[in-house]
This record gives sequence, C-alpha cells and structure tokens, in this order.
Amino acid sequence: MADRIDMDDVLNDDRRAALTGPAMALLIEADHYGVQIRVEDGRPILSGKLPPEAGETQFLQRLGECRRAVTIAADSLALGWKLEWSADGASCRVLAPARPSDYRNEISSGQRGGTGRRPASWVDTEGKPVPAGTTCRSCRGHLWWREAVRPQGWRCRACHPPTGAVPVMEVSTAEADLSAAA
Ligand SMILES: [Zn+2]
Repeated sequence: MADRIDMDDVLNDDRRAALTGPAMALLIEADHYGVQIRVEDGRPILSGKLPPEAGETQFLQRLGECRRAVTIAADSLALGWKLEWSADGASCRVLAPARPSDYRNEISSGQRGGTGRRPASWVDTEGKPVPAGTTCRSCRGHLWWREAVRPQGWRCRACHPPTGAVPVMEVSTAEADLSAAA
C-alpha cells in the first residue's frame, strides 16, 4: 500500500513546506470545522463530525488531494513544530522544536492543569486548550477567546474583549465548586 507515509523519510524541508502550504490551511480549516487530524502509523486520521458546510466546500476531496502534505503537517505540529505569525498576520515563519522533550513536558504539565493563573493574553498560534481551572491573573476571570481560524493566542474575555472583526471561539475554564453543593 502506498498510502502509508514513512515518517523517517520525511525531511525537515518537507515539514517546512507542509506547514507553510495548502496543507496547513486545510488543518486550520479542520479546526474551524471542529474536527481534528492526527497521524497514526503514517496515516492521517480524522476525528469529529464534519458540519454540512464542509461538504459544500468539498473539504474531504481537497484533503485527499493534499494527503501527504497534510499528514506531514499534522505530524510536525504534534512533534512541537510551530508557526510564528508576523504582527500584521501577513507572513509566518516555521520554528522547529527546540528539544522534543521540552514540548512533551509542556503538554503534560498543561494537562495536569488545575489552579493555574495566566496573564490576560498570550500568543499561541496552535490554540492549545487552556487547562480547566485557569484564571486570569488580572481580573480572576475564566472566560477566554481566540480567533476561530488562524488563532493568534488566547485572551481574557473581560480584559481584552474580541473586536468582532473575526469569528472567535470561547472557552470557560471555570471548575464546578463541589464544596458549595455540600
Ligand atoms: Zn482578565
């Protein structure tokens, strides 16, 4: 079968090309549709339910046409490759992971989550989830938003409300207060 990609054969230049080309746009589009693309054993796996809108835009067909690049881009993001956008959002550069182990540590400490405090905004072009229980260091709020497509970073809803210029996604990191129910 030719459909499995041997990741050991993928060069860093392949990753850079995938992350700056149509494949990355398709991953951002997948995020917009609320589905995830991950790579297992060299094959792209789509999880989540595509909205009808995705049928109209022939999303799956376009994904199939870029299958190899999409797989490489998704694998690269999972390994900690990052895109850094210029301030005007017009260009971006690709950052290779400094040390893969650092990224894994960051992920696992994020998942441990809990009672973290965060600044009212931070840059995160991957839109990684905000851990439950996180509160804004400035106002102690727990509502966060980012751009639905091409995320620039998470911002506190109270301290930095969205301007309405682009569609946003919001999350609440409030945790149920079990002691109050007792
Ligand atoms: Zn705040």
